[in-house]
Amino acid sequence: MKLIDGKALSETIKSEIAEEVKKLKDRDKKIPHLAAVLVGNDPASQSYVRSKVKSCEMVGFESTLINKDDSITQEELMEIISDLNNDEDIDGFIVQLPLPKHIDATAVTLAIDPKKDVDGFHPVNFGRMAQGLPCYLPATPFGIVQMLDRYNIPTEGKHTVVVGRSNIVGKPMSILMGMKSKVGNSTVTLAHSRTKDLAAETLRADIIIAAIGIPNFITADMVKEGVVIIDVGINRVDDESRKRGYRLVGDVDFEPVSKKASFITPVPGGVGPMTVTSLLMNTLMSSKKEVYG
Ligand code: NDP
Repeated sequence: MKLIDGKALSETIKSEIAEEVKKLKDRDKKIPHLAAVLVGNDPASQSYVRSKVKSCEMVGFESTLINKDDSITQEELMEIISDLNNDEDIDGFIVQLPLPKHIDATAVTLAIDPKKDVDGFHPVNFGRMAQGLPCYLPATPFGIVQMLDRYNIPTEGKHTVVVGRSNIVGKPMSILMGMKSKVGNSTVTLAHSRTKDLAAETLRADIIIAAIGIPNFITADMVKEGVVIIDVGINRVDDESRKRGYRLVGDVDFEPVSKKASFITPVPGGVGPMTVTSLLMNTLMSSKKEVYG
């Protein structure tokens, strides 16, 4: 079994980005600038946004954090988005999800200018992705593509089973794995809660991408020898032995499954750090006007 070390790979990619930023600085070019909008006090969201801002600093980007109380109205949030859309210095921005219940999250996603949608959530970017046109790939799938690519894991002709069909992970991942491209050319099954016999599907899989949100859901009896496992899940389980009272686990029962797998991502330290790095890659692409010109 080989561990796919998302933390180490994300550090490598970040130093490549930092190198590019240094060259831009040396040539007096514009420095990439990412903004993040955070609404409310959800500890997980705060921690995600903090790590995004910290990563910006690490690679030399400029960053702006807009932190708003969860009493913000839809109109006020829309105004912030409109300002960010029109701010020429901002290359890309994200609105951290989830948003409070009184906010229409779909309307927020649709209000973001696709040219600045570095999370890749806007339907324009999704549609361009599906047609193989230049776009911002959604950050988590982009990170997974990078991992498969840089670890030279063959995907062509393989059978990939994606479990979970969210708009931000499972669905785009299923499209990307079937694209006519180096990471792609896979035969894809997209499984979800209505799939009749999930184990029958996963047992046929050469590659399993699990994005479900249920701790240790994929067990060793559900996978074949030599399978490649990409575990997207980030789940908190109670753990009294930890100071904070919980630990993070994936959707895959790591220890037993890793004994059968050829490659596997750990949680934490797998897909998570790559997601943040993808955001930086999209922001760099935006600042260089590589996607929309
Ligand atoms: P969602 O919560 O939006 O969707 C979960 C999916 O899992 C749904 O499609 C659902 O099916 C499916 N599902 C639920 N139960 C079953 C079951 N018993 N059998 C088969 N499929 C099932 O997923 P997200 O993609 O937003 O998140 C998934 C996980 O990934 C979470 O743990 C999340 O925290 C994590 N995550 C991690 C990221 C990272 O950077 N590492 C980024 C984003 C998410 P149905 O559609 O039928 O309801």
